[in-house]
Amino acid sequence: MKAIQMVDLVTQYRKIQTEMDLAILDTVGSGHYINGEAVKEFASGLADYTGSKYAIPCANGTDALQIALMAMDLQPGDEAIVPAFTYAATAEAITLLKLKPVAVDVNPQTFNIDVNKIEEAVSPKTKVIIPVNLFGQTADMETIMQVARDRNLYVIEDNAQSIGSVYTFSNGTKKQAGTIGNVGILSFFPTKNLGCYGDGGALLTNDEELAVKLKMITLHGQSQKYRHEIIGCNSRLDTLQAAILNVKLPHLDSWIKARKKTATCYDSALSSLTDLLEIPYCIPSVDHVYNQYTLKIKQNRDGLQKYLKEKGIPTTVYYPLPLHHQPAFKDKIRAGGDLRVSESLCKSALSLPMHTELDEEQIQYIISGIINYK
Ligand SMILES: *Cc1c(COP(=O)(O)O)cnc(C)c1O
Repeated sequence: MKAIQMVDLVTQYRKIQTEMDLAILDTVGSGHYINGEAVKEFASGLADYTGSKYAIPCANGTDALQIALMAMDLQPGDEAIVPAFTYAATAEAITLLKLKPVAVDVNPQTFNIDVNKIEEAVSPKTKVIIPVNLFGQTADMETIMQVARDRNLYVIEDNAQSIGSVYTFSNGTKKQAGTIGNVGILSFFPTKNLGCYGDGGALLTNDEELAVKLKMITLHGQSQKYRHEIIGCNSRLDTLQAAILNVKLPHLDSWIKARKKTATCYDSALSSLTDLLEIPYCIPSVDHVYNQYTLKIKQNRDGLQKYLKEKGIPTTVYYPLPLHHQPAFKDKIRAGGDLRVSESLCKSALSLPMHTELDEEQIQYIISGIINYK
């Protein structure tokens, strides 16, 4: 059996190598390394794929969060609501801009922001909600958009982990994750569902005025060459990364299918181990695209992790600390209510190997490793 990895990017590359190598060499030979044709092609391909009116590539997902916030004319001290259980980048951009992250607890089943706790966290300074579509599953966006409308708040969807997930509203309307809020952000970090071979990111919006501003911010705030309208930054997707993403985007749906198939195998083999664990909970209206397959371990998560490691089965703890316990955010974050669920998930969450190249033998080996754990 091939050694099991959390993510196997090289095997995936081998399967598309001919096409990929050509695209890479073409770009290197073109001499257009910044804002080349491949970037425009990717922006339009991404808009088509997601159904977003505008897609604006940028350097990475963290920049995308910062750029989205910069476009919203916020004042220092204004607040942005975030889930306490997420990757630190979600709150980093907020703090960098001298805004205040307000941490709200998450739903114990979906791991996404608990929409029933958002209202009590809102203060007169709150201007933005940043829900995170965690591990591949969209947050309860219908309720979040309702709260945002009632309170006149912006919504920035941190969709770094859930590109391709389709969300169904109660009236049957379907929209892709990342296209529901005012702005959605994407990351093309190699381990995301659509990953490049370095750093990459994008912003999605249906709002023309915002789109113009977001794009301007990625290019030093320029409205035209050497005319700087607003303070921006330098955050571009390299032509090379765009060319790589142009090769990968047409494969995204089949790669999502492969992830779902693996998740189904895990689900059916592990769902009966109720003394030990809980399998991921999926809401029917939310299409889980499994950037991670994350179990809740009921006791001694670290013992199980160690046991599996000895068997050659890697696992990862996403995330060992909630935002408000991260040293960097300690005195910079406001707790919007109690955060007990997030704290307890940091002790119980365990992510299994999940990628597009897991074969049947590896999946069965991982499953028996868990079943045989005493
Ligand atoms: C990966 C990730 C980011 C940041 O993306 P980068 O491209 O690595 O900067 C932001 N938020 C979440 C939830 C992520 O998983």
